[in-house]
Amino acid sequence: MNRCIMCDKEKSTGDLKDILFGEDPLCYRCRSKWERRNVRFRIDGISGEASYVYNDAFSECLIQFKELKDEALKDVFLFEVKDKLKRKYHGYTLLMLPSTMKKEEERGFHHLQEMFACTGLEMLEPFEKTSDMDQKLLHKPDREKMTQGIRLKPDIVLPKRILLCDDTVTTGSTLKGAIRCLDPHKHIIRIYTVSANPLWVSNRKERYG
Ligand SMILES: [Zn+2]
Repeated sequence: MNRCIMCDKEKSTGDLKDILFGEDPLCYRCRSKWERRNVRFRIDGISGEASYVYNDAFSECLIQFKELKDEALKDVFLFEVKDKLKRKYHGYTLLMLPSTMKKEEERGFHHLQEMFACTGLEMLEPFEKTSDMDQKLLHKPDREKMTQGIRLKPDIVLPKRILLCDDTVTTGSTLKGAIRCLDPHKHIIRIYTVSANPLWVSNRKERYG
């Protein structure tokens, strides 16, 4: 990889650090704009962690990947942490949180699967989003089960150890919806999001302690 995938700078003519860390798809300058931080949080009693603060540089890269379907960016997000994830979550199956189905169809690729493929861990897409119309048609008890418009696809068998995965955590509401689809007595559940909204960083002690 000789050119930075974001700024297109020729890496061999750049910073000495570009030569030392040559395999990173980002050049040293672009990478240093990302704010690496081991953020820990809890959502509905489930422990979670993130590796970056969701800042402008991260956001720019994520939008380019998701909205502009720039598949070349898929290995940028977990480049620095994939080996750690591989070790730490050995034996876990990654459950990808759903985005709206329409968007996925337009995109023709599942951005989370692309992003997490470099970990080599097992992956499943067991959730689906439900439309507002589906929810109105349901009786009230069923509607309550379907918090945040997320449900398990029919006939899904989930493994024992599961890691809920997303690109970022903002309010945590999608994760809450996913957690409510799961039985905590049957599974060991953890959460991993690549980045976290700064809100989760500043409230870290209260939320985790
Ligand atoms: Zn660059």
